[in-house]
Amino acid sequence: MSSYDVAVIGSGPGGYVAAIRCAQLGMKTAIIEKYDTLGGTCLNVGCIPSKALLDSSHHYEDAIKHFEEHGIEVGDVKFNLEKMINRKQGVVDMTTKGIVFLMDKNKIDVYHGVGAFKDATHIDITPAEGDVQTIEAKNTIIATGSKPSSLPFITIDKERIITSTEALKLPEVPKHMIVIGGGVIGLELGQVYKRLGAEVTVVEYMDRIIPTMDGAQSKEMLKVFKKQKMKFALSHGVTAVERNGDEVIVKATDKKGNDVEFKGDYCLVSVGRRAYTDGLNLEAVGISTDDRGRVEVNEHLQTNVSNIYAIGDVIQGAMLAHKAEEEGVFVAETMAGQKPHIDYNLIPGVVYTWPEVASVGKTEEQLKESGISYKSGQFPMRALGRSRASGDIDGFVKILADKTTDEVLGVHMVGARVADLIAEGVTAMEFRASAEDISRMSHSHPTYAEAVKEAALAATEDRALHI
Ligand code: FAD
Ligand code: NAD
Repeated sequence: MSSYDVAVIGSGPGGYVAAIRCAQLGMKTAIIEKYDTLGGTCLNVGCIPSKALLDSSHHYEDAIKHFEEHGIEVGDVKFNLEKMINRKQGVVDMTTKGIVFLMDKNKIDVYHGVGAFKDATHIDITPAEGDVQTIEAKNTIIATGSKPSSLPFITIDKERIITSTEALKLPEVPKHMIVIGGGVIGLELGQVYKRLGAEVTVVEYMDRIIPTMDGAQSKEMLKVFKKQKMKFALSHGVTAVERNGDEVIVKATDKKGNDVEFKGDYCLVSVGRRAYTDGLNLEAVGISTDDRGRVEVNEHLQTNVSNIYAIGDVIQGAMLAHKAEEEGVFVAETMAGQKPHIDYNLIPGVVYTWPEVASVGKTEEQLKESGISYKSGQFPMRALGRSRASGDIDGFVKILADKTTDEVLGVHMVGARVADLIAEGVTAMEFRASAEDISRMSHSHPTYAEAVKEAALAATEDRALHI
């Protein structure tokens, strides 16, 4: 039987990064993945394929809507959905093969099969074909991620009533896609199919889209999406989803209690994801889970069984690839006797629609709720020369700072390339910058980043220069 210092179950961004860091720290490491390809949700059916389709559909939309204003005449522009989906798969294949290379380079043993606890130091691995293999591991990291969740009355048939996984490889552009849930997945994939010509209606339970982000971002994005002709039914609780041949019918109740019906040919269910522990045989070792099925961990990300840790989507917190990665590194370093640290307040959140949406730190709603006195500075993208040059004038940068100390407490953005720009907010907050610190830093001209400096000036002394 092969013996390891550490076994990692699951090869998503949490698991494979944890494995690399363990190997770097000198531990003999194994990784177990039930699917044929490594990389987990993120690389196979999440972050990477969704961004590939967002990019392809964005190019198409630019060609049909915006090239002309730049003086580019292209005539009749067409797209080939099959080719677009194949390209996406090519990007995924290249990326997942990259993880195989990284495992090899770091001398990590890869096992394909379902990992299940036999006891606290032994894991059974059941491959799709062939015999069960058992390995021994001094420590184990559970990194089994998450799966799409649904509503109790919905049957996901994977043809017309679908999750994000099927939405990444549809055989045709829907005529009318009804999206249940105006969160990250609903908006990203809704925008992909809207750009390709589908009618898209988002049915959202709350009174705003992307409800966990700053209210100003929800408001701006609703305006932008409506301009792009996406439809929204906010404050609607879905009560039933039915299929009748090629038609899907979504029934909901609006906030006045009226029954409403939406008819389309596809229904994307994007109401969140659930921690995935099926098949792990947690009972064999008595690992406890919370009321949402997430593996319970302490501040060291250690389960109630001291040599077993858990990271990523399978535990509490934001379901984000970079959060899972940080936790992977954290656990590896903890096991090596180091004292790592994660500031969960500084894990940024991004929506990769166009314009993009990005946030770090506290939202205005959270500051109000916790009674912290703050000041706010906001600068519109349309006032930037860079935005006018590219034509990307929607959005803003908003900086929230402590009223007394001027320390930056939150940075919230909507606009072109803000997914990359938010790194400035994270850096500033990591070093506990004041809004004045940012306002005194030189920002290249012309860039979208100038909006960060201007918002900081507005937050410090209400003295933005270009508005
Ligand atoms: P996962 O990536 O889910 O990996 C878990 C792995 O464990 C899987 O490969 C699974 O097969 C394997 N596994 C499970 N059980 C077993 C077992 N018993 N034995 C062996 N293997 C097992 N996040 C971002 O930060 N940015 C984005 O742009 C983004 N876009 C997304 C788009 C979509 C459509 C979706 C669905 C998600 C997106 N996410 C994004 C979220 C991101 O994918 C997850 O937060 C991330 O993948 C979590 O990583 P993880 O390592 O915890 O788990
Ligand atoms: P989400 O939590 O972002 O959004 C779910 C939405 O569904 C919420 O707005 C919620 O109010 C709504 N909802 C819940 N129940 C409803 C009901 N009965 N009727 C109508 N609306 C309802 O979840 P998601 O979009 O499914 O994404 C899942 C996870 O994947 C998220 O945690 C997200 O962080 C991650 N993800 C991240 C990215 C990214 O980082 N860009 C992209 C995709 C997914």
